[in-house]
Amino acid sequence: HFQLRRCCPPQPREHLGLGTRTNIYAGLLKVKSAEDEDAGDSSAQDVKVVLKVLGSRHRDISLAFFETASMMRQVSHKHIALLYGVCVRHLENIMVEEFVQLGPLDVFMRIQRSPLGTPWKFQVAKQLASALSYLEDKKLVHGFVCTKNILLARDGVDSEGGPFIKLSDPGIPITVLTREECVDRIPWIAPECVKDSTNLSVAADKWGFGTTLWEICYDGEVPLKDKKLTEKERFYAAECQLATPDCRELAELMTHCMTYDPHKRPFFRAIVRDIDTLEEQNPSIKPAPTQEVD
Ligand code: ATP
Ligand code: MG
Repeated sequence: HFQLRRCCPPQPREHLGLGTRTNIYAGLLKVKSAEDEDAGDSSAQDVKVVLKVLGSRHRDISLAFFETASMMRQVSHKHIALLYGVCVRHLENIMVEEFVQLGPLDVFMRIQRSPLGTPWKFQVAKQLASALSYLEDKKLVHGFVCTKNILLARDGVDSEGGPFIKLSDPGIPITVLTREECVDRIPWIAPECVKDSTNLSVAADKWGFGTTLWEICYDGEVPLKDKKLTEKERFYAAECQLATPDCRELAELMTHCMTYDPHKRPFFRAIVRDIDTLEEQNPSIKPAPTQEVD
């Protein structure tokens, strides 16, 4: 059932932070290319990776952890972080993911001194929509789309070519989170998933994409940050909407995606097309052609 490549545990080095039930480290993975191996060359290259370690205390949710790994192993897209594989060390389960140089988008946007322009924001939105459109075509659900889970491979602020993002893994699936943890994810988690986390579907990623657009428009501000859990619950119960951003075009897309009825949210394919059309109609937001990033 799980198509996972096993690998030897890379040595964890620097501790990068905490995820939900996980500890995150940077490490080095020894990678041999298939051609080198065929040619009998056993030398390996060191590749910087991130180790997401599910501690032995959380073995009860290891199946859910592998579900995330399994989803990530099925994807290959330039705007989605590469999952090298999983490994087990003692009683710990470890996901080994590509290290993305400039870290999470939320932190990056918050520490910017000069404002990020509309073309920059449009490019990030378009790259994210293209990654989610790819997942939609493959009928795969991400499950936690937010700026914290978007990593920057290139910031594109001073350099040519603009930003280059990679969507990271969603972490532990919401189906094994507590009710409080789900409520705390308001306004990223889709309303139907707060009612019942098994309602998780591609439509939920559309809602999450809408909230992420809000974060992008507001330079990494945290939506509903001062609200208590009960207030967050009431926000959804009363079908409230987040404040409308100034950037009219992105605001319109955001509102479309954050429709309470999951069936009325647009397809990512249509969102990508809308962003293309907006760029064509408005040359001031049209970015220079992007360069590829390895
Ligand atoms: P969750 O598990 O709920 O998604 P999270 O997003 O905070 O929580 P992680 O995605 O596991 O947790 O990552 C924690 C921190 O580790 C991030 O904020 C980031 O600084 C760093 N990090 C995670 N993945 C990568 C990566 N692929 N490349 C570089 N840094 C990363
Ligand atoms: Mg994460």
